[in-house]
Amino acid sequence: MKYLTVESLTKTYRVGNQDQVVIKDMNLEIEKGSFVSIMGPSGSGKSTLLYLLGGLEAPCQGMVYLKNEKISGLKEKQMSKIRRQSLGFVFQFYNLVANLSVEDNILLPLALDKKSLKHYKDKLESLLKLVGLEDKKDHLPGQLSGGQQQRVAVARALIIEPEVLLLDEPVGNLDSKTAHEVMDLFKSIHKKMGITIIQVTHSEEFAFFGDRIVHIMDGMICSDTNNFSKQLTETVS
Ligand code: ADP
Ligand code: MG
Repeated sequence: MKYLTVESLTKTYRVGNQDQVVIKDMNLEIEKGSFVSIMGPSGSGKSTLLYLLGGLEAPCQGMVYLKNEKISGLKEKQMSKIRRQSLGFVFQFYNLVANLSVEDNILLPLALDKKSLKHYKDKLESLLKLVGLEDKKDHLPGQLSGGQQQRVAVARALIIEPEVLLLDEPVGNLDSKTAHEVMDLFKSIHKKMGITIIQVTHSEEFAFFGDRIVHIMDGMICSDTNNFSKQLTETVS
């Protein structure tokens, strides 16, 4: 069965009286359980592609399918239902709610979906442990470092047990050491949970955390390669 599929995807933005084609007739197949890095220069359409994959933007032409179900071109209500049930997002600037505790930030997607929070106590504890914030659950985001805030965002993305985790420059705002620690967290999430990860990055080094690297330029795929070095080290270790 096909998993995440992009078919003839085109996205155009109109600014003033000019149309700018940001994603051009793109085709892409992403396998279940893979870790794909999307690279490309600034302005090449990486974030736009990620938002189209996650149903945060609607294409002008073409379609995105998840497990043969359309996740684009739907009405906003249907699209947000799919996002709430199947897709986890992590952005460069964490996007936490400043006046909610760590715990409440993580539970927010469930609260918005009117889920009963008491059923998620164990899940919450295990996610706090996974991201290393067991002792910080009552803190406010402003009382945490950048790396810790991003860990909260990661736990929030995972609380719904998503099919796919979509990351937009997830360590772009962190110092190099912290960035490595957060990338290691994604690596272990991928390994432990077998979740499909799609990461946008312009760091070559962090792209190599993925097992496939797709380069885009001017809204088109210009190379698509397997990261054999990762597969090799994982076979050896
Ligand atoms: P990247 O993430 O690779 O840096 P983006 O996908 O953010 O690139 O943007 C690609 C191009 O689309 C840029 O030229 C940007 O200015 C334009 N763009 C992105 N979002 C919008 C928008 N909402 N309205 C108009 N233009 C946009
Ligand atoms: Mg971007």
